[in-house]
Amino acid sequence: RFLSVEGIDGAGKSTQLAWIAQWLSQKGVAFVQTREPGGTSLGEKLRELLLTEPMHLETETLLMFAGRREHLAQVILPALERGEWVLCDRFSDASYAYQGGGRGLPREKFLALEEWVQGSGLHKIQPDLTLIFDVPLSVSQERMSAGRALDRFEREAADFHARVRAAYLERAASEPERIRVIDANRTLEQIQAELAEILSAIL
Ligand code: C5P
Repeated sequence: RFLSVEGIDGAGKSTQLAWIAQWLSQKGVAFVQTREPGGTSLGEKLRELLLTEPMHLETETLLMFAGRREHLAQVILPALERGEWVLCDRFSDASYAYQGGGRGLPREKFLALEEWVQGSGLHKIQPDLTLIFDVPLSVSQERMSAGRALDRFEREAADFHARVRAAYLERAASEPERIRVIDANRTLEQIQAELAEILSAIL
């Protein structure tokens, strides 16, 4: 199974990812944990560039998808072929939300790259389940400012993050069978009880 985890910056995704990884280990599930941008040696170099170097929106999008192509070939597909689970910190839905919603990349360009890198129809490679951790903007802004040094995306103004969030929710509404929105503005206990329920159902 292929699982991806998404959310705006400051939604608490890292905390929940660590919990999911621990849950899978406890259940004896063999899985590979990985991330985007990143996940391969090339991908981590691209990540460094993407997070620090100002660039044209289309360059940014192409690098995201180039990294994804490599990630699929080197890490994701081999793991799925071995029968292992893949737990991925962000995947294409992040491109839809950040480059599309946040920066205004036309939808057709996103769709063209998605089809190129992930295929289409029955052969499309995409997560079986995507969890979007959702919090109101005020909460994410507060969590981000309380945390570590911010990267190029995190430093964007609040309206950028508002557009990213709206795009995530729109995407979730258009693919309700694949994407679950988790209200992350609750206690860890409440969130993790819901996660345990969702994960148990697909185990
Ligand atoms: O998940 P993480 O916060 O480590 O992601 C690194 C940064 O890359 C984030 O600030 C995220 O907003 C950004 N990103 C992006 N487009 C993607 C994937 C990640 O802008 N497709």
